[in-house]
Amino acid sequence: MKFQYFDAHTHAQFAAYDSDRDAVLARARATGVGMITVGTQRDTSLKAVEVARVHENVWAAVGLHPVHTGKSFHDVQELGGGEAARGFAGRGEEFDHEYYRKLAEDPKVVAIGECGLDYAVFVSDRVLELQKRAPRQESGFSGEEVRRIKEKQREAFEAQIKFAHEVQKPLMIHCRSAFSDLISILTPNASRLNPSVIHFFSGTLGDAKKLLDMGFYFTFGGVITFPPKAGRLGDYDEVIKIIPPERILSETDAPYVAPVPYRGKRNEPAYVVEVVKKLAELNGMTAEATAEQIAKNAERVFGLQLNGE
Ligand SMILES: [Zn+2]
Repeated sequence: MKFQYFDAHTHAQFAAYDSDRDAVLARARATGVGMITVGTQRDTSLKAVEVARVHENVWAAVGLHPVHTGKSFHDVQELGGGEAARGFAGRGEEFDHEYYRKLAEDPKVVAIGECGLDYAVFVSDRVLELQKRAPRQESGFSGEEVRRIKEKQREAFEAQIKFAHEVQKPLMIHCRSAFSDLISILTPNASRLNPSVIHFFSGTLGDAKKLLDMGFYFTFGGVITFPPKAGRLGDYDEVIKIIPPERILSETDAPYVAPVPYRGKRNEPAYVVEVVKKLAELNGMTAEATAEQIAKNAERVFGLQLNGE
């Protein structure tokens, strides 16, 4: 099997693919796409491992996403509308070390996450903020609640930093609107962390430089294919230019954020080809050379053998 492309962060195990998962993964395989399907809480982490076990081109990450440390987050695309989702909504998880340790024993598990910090949860409508209209200030959270939510996210993240060290795997980090806290948590841990990945990087140039110095890798997804000023979170072109090609990975974050020309549709791992084309354009490389570099990076950071016999 030869994998030409790598989708370093996708969610092929999510409910969005329950009716046609095998077809979606077959399309990825036919396109030469290897991938890491990423867990976000207990159920999706277990399902990530189950999907990875039976598909040659799929590896898994297991962990607890910061939004799932809180009580009321529910996404139909992620968990579906069935019993699991109803049971889940309103739960709020703490990082269950034993549960995730057992999952991480599977040889297909190559990273811990997605974990990190998400302060966008305090803004009820992210789109409004992007459009520079007034974000809703009355998010329904008191100052005390904000402090408590941040504290829970921090505890879960720190537990997973320790865990990643224990099992000697890289972190798959999610961060929205929280880069200064993220960097202050990571800094004292940088020396004992395996080289790790910031997924869907949306920080500033300054954040990127600090994280580069600490040895991090960066994934970029469909947003970089969007025209400027049409829903882009940051100045990706500038950020991508300062990151050495050997620290860049491609991702889809499917089922979310499909790249142009699939924008607005359900995303899938095969579309990572469009992300690679855009990265190549920004770096002045060919798509082939970019894909090859990304595959090497993935092998290095996740300890994978993509193109063995
Ligand atoms: Zn994700």
